Amino acid sequence: MSNRLNAAPNDLEAFWMPFTANRQFKKAPRMLTGAKDMHYTTSDGRSVLDGTAGLWCVNAGHCRPKITEAVREQVGEMDYAPAFQMGHPKAFELANQLVSLAPEGMNHVLYTNSGSESVETALKVALAYHRAKGDGSRFRLIGRERGYHGVNFGGISVGGIVSNRKMFGTLLTGVDHLSHTHMPDKNAFTRGEPEHGGDIASELERIVTLHDASTVAAVIVEPVAGSTGVLIPPKGYLKKLRDICTKHGILLIFDEVITGFGRLGTPFAADYFDVTPDMITTAKGLTNGVIPMGAVFVTDAIHDTFMNGPEHLIEFFHGYTYSGNPMASAAGLATLETYKEEGLLTRGAELAPYWEDALHSLKDAPHVVDIRNIGLIGAIELEPMKGEPTKRAFSAFLKAFEKGCLIRTTGDIIALSPPLIIEKNHIDELVDCLRTVLNEVE
Ligand code: PMP
Repeated sequence: MSNRLNAAPNDLEAFWMPFTANRQFKKAPRMLTGAKDMHYTTSDGRSVLDGTAGLWCVNAGHCRPKITEAVREQVGEMDYAPAFQMGHPKAFELANQLVSLAPEGMNHVLYTNSGSESVETALKVALAYHRAKGDGSRFRLIGRERGYHGVNFGGISVGGIVSNRKMFGTLLTGVDHLSHTHMPDKNAFTRGEPEHGGDIASELERIVTLHDASTVAAVIVEPVAGSTGVLIPPKGYLKKLRDICTKHGILLIFDEVITGFGRLGTPFAADYFDVTPDMITTAKGLTNGVIPMGAVFVTDAIHDTFMNGPEHLIEFFHGYTYSGNPMASAAGLATLETYKEEGLLTRGAELAPYWEDALHSLKDAPHVVDIRNIGLIGAIELEPMKGEPTKRAFSAFLKAFEKGCLIRTTGDIIALSPPLIIEKNHIDELVDCLRTVLNEVE
């Protein structure tokens, strides 16, 4: 019998928290108990301005009645429907709504429950697509240094974050990585897309030549790398990747788990950069973070290849118990309706100049070595403390939380991605808070 049987209900030990310094956290927990629009409420009753849309997901702001009501209604009507060989109307309705937002020619979605699952799904579709076409020698996958594609085995294999990879053995074989595009010596304090580094994309040609194009299935990149500190693609970089992939029959996957659903002021980053990939992975903003759900958008060409086989067979041996879950579908439909009614998929474009000026006003604050922004996303990179990397940014996070602002840090970088309903006075408040914090941290 468990020796924790007598633990108090609020004991913190049993929950091994994700991506968290558990021992530190449990000595001084930071608990959130409520949320409304732009703010969280803490367990000690304080209001905290959400500078990160939860974890880059609550794009329409918190506890929006339309979305929460839609979930409440759905759970009373039908809680669950088998995902395989059965359907329910809302999953189809949502798929239609989703593809109506997607770049031209991407008219099909596969559902998942998270960004990580969207990535695994897309990688598997890529491998199976080439086989279905009779091109089974294409098994190689190409990711990028400093890429984050979730935490499952495919995602950490194509991802490029050392700490997320090094404990887990050999990972997927047949994976190569492009160099990341971050060039602080040339591009520091760039507003929007950096001038330098677009030619890094031609490295793809070298990797493809090394292995021969006939062995390469897909390239996956985040159009803007979010989790490793908002690394914005240099001008021309994504177009060049697209050209090389097209030339060699390689699929291009954009991981838009963060950039999807209005983050850059366009429905997808593919629209912002005017580059259409073959697949787009999404999650987070799809349901405003309310119910876990992801979707992989695929082109007609990919979808139709699978539909050409014998009709009595399952076309793709993949899926999840909760693919297209009724509550998630209801949340997704209400979320997309909210985005449309309130113009949130393009609001980022209207606010971007104000956001940009506000962030760059921190240029002369202590410790700041770079500021980056695009749409309603931004990063402030700090000089690491001697011998103690990540400590300065993390203490900035703690101080900001104390002062009533939620920010996120990754290494020595402060990352910001507020709900898209943010107003100018909130932007001012966030930046003032950061200025105070940067003046106070060691
Ligand atoms: N891909 C990208 C680009 C992401 O930013 C994330 C999450 N931050 C993921 C995948 C993984 O998503 P999840 O945590 O929902 O599995």
